[in-house]
Amino acid sequence: MNLMRRSVLAIADNGRVERVFRGSRLARGLVNRFVAGETLDQALGAAARLHTSGMTTTLDLLGENVATVDASRAAVASYVAILQRMREAGLEPNISVKLTMLGLDLGDTLARDNVGPILEAANAVDGFVRIDMEGSDYTARTMDIFTSVHNRFPNNVGIVVQSYLRRAEDDVRHAIAQGARVRLVKGAYAEPETVAYPTRGEIDESFVALLELLLDGGHYPAIATHDPALIRATQGYALRMGIPPDRYEFQMLYGVRREEQSRLATEGYRMRVYVPFGTEWYPYFTRRIAERPANALFVLRQLFDR
Ligand SMILES: Cc1cc2nc3c(=O)[nH]c(=O)nc-3n(C[C@H](O)[C@H](O)[C@H](O)COP(=O)(O)OP(=O)(O)OC[C@H]3O[C@@H](n4cnc5c(N)ncnc54)[C@H](O)[C@@H]3O)c2cc1C
Repeated sequence: MNLMRRSVLAIADNGRVERVFRGSRLARGLVNRFVAGETLDQALGAAARLHTSGMTTTLDLLGENVATVDASRAAVASYVAILQRMREAGLEPNISVKLTMLGLDLGDTLARDNVGPILEAANAVDGFVRIDMEGSDYTARTMDIFTSVHNRFPNNVGIVVQSYLRRAEDDVRHAIAQGARVRLVKGAYAEPETVAYPTRGEIDESFVALLELLLDGGHYPAIATHDPALIRATQGYALRMGIPPDRYEFQMLYGVRREEQSRLATEGYRMRVYVPFGTEWYPYFTRRIAERPANALFVLRQLFDR
């Protein structure tokens, strides 16, 4: 499983493979399943449709690892506009941002300074900003920046913890003590065993322990998984502990297990869908492919057919 993920991520990190994808109509069909479109209007359309089906959304303008200050500032302006447009469209303003899109590779100060205006905009429209968690090289710096901005905007910003990381429990306990909102995920990057659990069993066990901690003491946690066993574990624990379904939410990715998304919403659970959009979809797309062997096989066939 881990080997498959590593192989797909390694093959994908090659300019030629990316060009094949951008040029192939069939591959674009698969991209469209996971990405709501290239424009904000398309993303707002997808969000409005999900809203009609009783779900909330978080919008993610795709992009990461910007190399210039100008690009990081452009991302800030885009995110501010997205929050305002969501409010105007009658949607709850909620976005997910990556610090490497806000200039983290160019320095912590730049990234922190860039988060400020986004949180001010979120505060003005009563919105919320989730800082996504990226590869382990960024974890400590992301947590530090999060802690400092959370002190200024406690109601407008939350963080992500990846259960595959050995440090995850410390991060969850710290976030609970801070009163911060946590999104719990398994983790999507290829990580060395020194920092991450290598087996699915350990990652899932960690996820269950952390979801219990978050349901017990967390501040409106988000349980972000498509894994039926972990969804059942969440529901079961909440039921046993008398925790009502409005004290937490489930989150899933756009295009992944759509029927399950509707089913949970219909049953009265809070369901938020992560809606990615934009032209820079390639790295996000390859992580989705690496997660699931069936997707990877489909993609490999496309490459060999050419
Ligand atoms: C809302 C949300 C936000 C996230 N934010 C982050 C983040 O900030 N940082 C980060 O590292 N990761 C993030 N992730 C990704 C996460 O870490 C996992 O990589 C991803 O959710 C797959 O793990 P899983 O828990 O769904 O379990 P898995 O065991 O991977 O999947 C369980 C089942 O779900 C279905 N499934 C899962 N993925 C796919 C797919 N791509 N295509 C089709 N079916 C699929 C399959 O049926 C699979 O058997 C996020 C995930 C979600 C849902």
